[in-house]
Amino acid sequence: HTRWIRQDRVEYPVVVGEGVLDELCSYLASAPPRGAGLVPAPEVPHVLFTDTTVNALYGDRVEALLRACGLEVFRVVVPAGEASKSLATYEWAVGEMLQGGAGRKSVLFALGGGVVGDLGGFVAATYMRGIAFVQLPTTILAHDSAVGGKVGIDHPLAKNALGVFAFPRAVLYDTALLRTLPPREVRSGLAEVVKHAFLEGEEYVSFLEAEAEKIMALDPGALAEALLRGIAVKADVVSRDPYETLGIREVLNLGHTVGHALETLGGYRSLLHGEAVALGLAVESRIAERLGILAHGVRMRLEALLARFGFDLRWPEGEAYDPASVVRVMLRDKKNVRKKIRFVFLTDLGKTEFRELASEESEAHLRAVLREGA
Ligand code: NAD
Ligand code: ZN
Repeated sequence: HTRWIRQDRVEYPVVVGEGVLDELCSYLASAPPRGAGLVPAPEVPHVLFTDTTVNALYGDRVEALLRACGLEVFRVVVPAGEASKSLATYEWAVGEMLQGGAGRKSVLFALGGGVVGDLGGFVAATYMRGIAFVQLPTTILAHDSAVGGKVGIDHPLAKNALGVFAFPRAVLYDTALLRTLPPREVRSGLAEVVKHAFLEGEEYVSFLEAEAEKIMALDPGALAEALLRGIAVKADVVSRDPYETLGIREVLNLGHTVGHALETLGGYRSLLHGEAVALGLAVESRIAERLGILAHGVRMRLEALLARFGFDLRWPEGEAYDPASVVRVMLRDKKNVRKKIRFVFLTDLGKTEFRELASEESEAHLRAVLREGA
């Protein structure tokens, strides 16, 4: 299961499957199309970048695999959780890299979920003006975050406020590592899979409908296919608009206009990213229906699939989630100008449309959807 991703002038392989990590060196060193053609210099130390949870589970094993490739490695282990995508942790990690003797020829291996991928990728992209990095994703969500070249950290005032576009040299995605994920993290990651399916169209959506139970049970075949298809959708969009300058890449914000606002209002604690996105997908599709632009039956299929994956599609309790607050947060988003909120709406399976709605109109739609009981 290898797919090559082309972004701008860069191309890198994404290898997905059960046990692919066991062949780490061979995937790295083999010439394309099988491998990345990346032979890390044996004379410099390389970096295994991970978080505390993943380190406890897989740190020793992956370090041993890297040593078996003849590489000297040292570990940089950050605390698990979104709070590590901070300037403070970034500065600390760079210090560890310097003290460990990492140089310009060192390769950083980011082993973990989206937090490790975003932070580790940003460290690599900026360390001594940029060193090579390889993504070793360990969450379902990371099928999204490890692909696409966006790396960065948060600022207290805004998520992902500091970052760059930087492409990994390879993504090696061993689905066997997903088996230790807490069920809530599995489900959360599946929200982006559902998003990618509805962006792609009938074939991917009906595949998920047919295989939902197997995917949730992390059946290797069904899971690898679900993830590879998602990666293909993202890769296709990204390759047509690598630096988000043409507006094409914006379709990936499906479910995220409302989703991000809910995540922010929950202080990034109450709702996991995917939980907020799942609700955002449902609510935005209801707004699209109210606008009369969504084909009949699509919203029902979307909500039914999300429900089968176990998402709670009820609006969260509490004053914090008042529609007026949601609109206020949506307006702060960098994509919105002049009191209008930019949405990407589904119009059919595999079809989308951009619409800018005035803040009052957005709020009225949210209130109506809430009354219906989304
Ligand atoms: P995460 O990296 O925090 O991982 C979730 C939790 O699962 C963590 O506690 C982690 O330690 C643990 N974990 C990871 N792998 C595990 C495993 N195999 N077994 C057991 N536990 C494991 O979160 P995430 O959901 O993977 O990623 C969220 C982040 O991704 C957010 O910061 C988001 O902004 C970012 N993101 C980035 C992009 C992008 O394009 N760069 C896209 C989407 C999301
Ligand atoms: Zn997302």
